[in-house]
Amino acid sequence: MTPTTPPALTLSNGVAMPVLGFGVFQSPPEETAAAVEAAIASGYRLIDTAAAYGNEREVGEAIRASGIDRGEMFITTKLWISDYGYDEALRGIDGCLRRLGLDYVDLFLLHQPVPVEFDGTVAAYKAMEGMLADGRARAIGVSNFSEQHLETLMQQTDVVPAVNQVELHPFFTQHPLRAFHAGHGITTEAWSPLGGIHVYRPADPDAVLNALEHPAVTSIADKYGKTPAQVVLRWHVDQGIVAIPKSVKPHRIEENIGVFDFELTADEVASIAALDTGVRAGPDPESISMATFPKRVEN
Ligand code: NDP
Repeated sequence: MTPTTPPALTLSNGVAMPVLGFGVFQSPPEETAAAVEAAIASGYRLIDTAAAYGNEREVGEAIRASGIDRGEMFITTKLWISDYGYDEALRGIDGCLRRLGLDYVDLFLLHQPVPVEFDGTVAAYKAMEGMLADGRARAIGVSNFSEQHLETLMQQTDVVPAVNQVELHPFFTQHPLRAFHAGHGITTEAWSPLGGIHVYRPADPDAVLNALEHPAVTSIADKYGKTPAQVVLRWHVDQGIVAIPKSVKPHRIEENIGVFDFELTADEVASIAALDTGVRAGPDPESISMATFPKRVEN
């Protein structure tokens, strides 16, 4: 079968970004290269990693092994908070590119805001503006930023983030933040697009919220002869949200990209959005600091 290559949307600076990509958070380094190779063979071109994931090297290996032209790939990585501050960020950026074995990335993100020390967050972003100017990133952006974090960052910097990558799935639809993004030309990218965080890190282990088992999703899957995961991913695509599902299982990697031969009606999109609880499963961005997340990235 000819692999499907996802269509692209256009970022505010004119760069094309695939609407569906492949995430590698919690992919063990020893499984990451094989997973990324399987993803590229299935047609994925966007790969989403981060310094903090500890698998940038293996992502780089898989890209080289794939034989696909670098120019066809869209590689995202993220600066971890132990590299915030201007000079620290310069070192962190070098570290990311060195581990990936790349001259440039397509999208470079601040992984988190650090609200208790936001000057360091802003300084790191200024270092990324330099990276954009010298061509080591084709676009820059942020992750896990609220409206307020974005406002404060934009007041002190020149380049509006092209992307904000945030927790977003049927149980947490981020409607107000998405409206803010739309008003500023910021593309919304969904992490945990399948709602995976509710399953692998449930708030209540006795009452797991699994979007892939919810009747609102499974009934639509039955109607189209698609899987629940495909319906949820199509729900993102139909709303112009970039989704980056993660899997280390080849059959799921293939399944998750098979969403370009059907589309949902507006009522179906709304019926899945109605599952929103307004409550995130991941960490509150206001709580992020080196005290709460003491992990350090070695460059
Ligand atoms: P996802 O919603 O992608 O869910 C991943 C989980 O679902 C895994 O446990 C996977 O298991 C399972 N899964 C994958 N495909 C299927 C399927 N078709 N049917 C059933 N189960 C499936 O959540 P993630 O939290 O992993 O998010 C995806 C990506 O987002 C990450 O890899 C990372 O790149 C990014 N991310 C970014 C964050 C940030 O702070 N910026 C935070 C968290 C994630 P298995 O591997 O066994 O198939």
